Amino acid sequence: MAARIIDGKQIAQDIRAELKETVAELKATHGVTPGLGVILVGDDPASRSYVTAKERACEEIGIYSDDNRLPAETTQEELLALVGKMNRDPKIHGILVQLPLPKHIDESAVLLAIDPDKDVDGFHPVSVGRMVIGEKAFLSCTPHGVIQLLQRSGVTLDGADVVIVGRSNIVGKPLANMLIQKWDKGNATVTVCHTRTKNLAEHTRRADIVIAAAGRPNTVTADMVREGAVVIDVGVNRVDDPTRERGYRLVGDVDFAAVAEKASLITPVPGGVGPMTITMLLFNTVESAKSTL
Ligand code: NAP
Repeated sequence: MAARIIDGKQIAQDIRAELKETVAELKATHGVTPGLGVILVGDDPASRSYVTAKERACEEIGIYSDDNRLPAETTQEELLALVGKMNRDPKIHGILVQLPLPKHIDESAVLLAIDPDKDVDGFHPVSVGRMVIGEKAFLSCTPHGVIQLLQRSGVTLDGADVVIVGRSNIVGKPLANMLIQKWDKGNATVTVCHTRTKNLAEHTRRADIVIAAAGRPNTVTADMVREGAVVIDVGVNRVDDPTRERGYRLVGDVDFAAVAEKASLITPVPGGVGPMTITMLLFNTVESAKSTL
């Protein structure tokens, strides 16, 4: 079987088009423009380009973005003061502090300072706790993006046997918790694997849906996947490639070419989960603005 490719770029574009309409409606009917406060400390090139992409995406769908690029020497007090100001600003519906922060700043203190009602990244312990106990919460963007890809590709989650490889706080753990909830995005039976899992292939081979979030190329190979499985690759890894001008290329955690021969549906890297993360941040910002009406 040759897998159908899940086109993350297209699905992200579809969601952004829906959001653009909602934003226009919010402006026209209620005079409300969703606002995202963005804070970048320092000049890490990867963080800078990520923040620029987020700001462009906001602009594209009509979200107001309050862009704050601070020097690397910014103190924790200055940063906390800015977060506090954004917490009180009614024009700001979501706050995004780009991670990682410089070493002299306590990252968790800063994330804790964000008003949970503006926590559009979904990383605040209150947001995570609300989600885990099944209350309305901002869903963190990458796991929510994975669920959107599955649902919009017609994959049934209800009763599905899902195996997730990876248990990080930003992907594996929240994704597992979303998928076991008693709601339309869940009702799956989930196994979470990690480096202490005894026989990874034994787990992945029986899964209807395999989700790889390990951060290592070739963690999931064709012999580890059953015929007809759905395979989602969250991993983004740089591998040396002298044929490319920049000297490397991006690959996921899945041996794409071989697994695509067995799977029924598969995401590519790039162009799969990647475009969904920013899209779900926009989604949360619009949801936050709607909740203030
Ligand atoms: P992380 O914090 O490094 O966590 C990796 C997890 O995978 C850990 O739980 C680790 O187990 C597990 N793991 C690693 N190698 C394994 C193996 N061989 N077998 C079984 N489990 C293994 O990484 P992360 O932040 O979750 O990110 C994972 C990947 O997703 C990275 O490539 C990252 O770049 C990518 N990512 C992409 C997006 C996106 O928007 N597309 C967003 C976030 C992350 P232990 O806990 O036992 O160490």
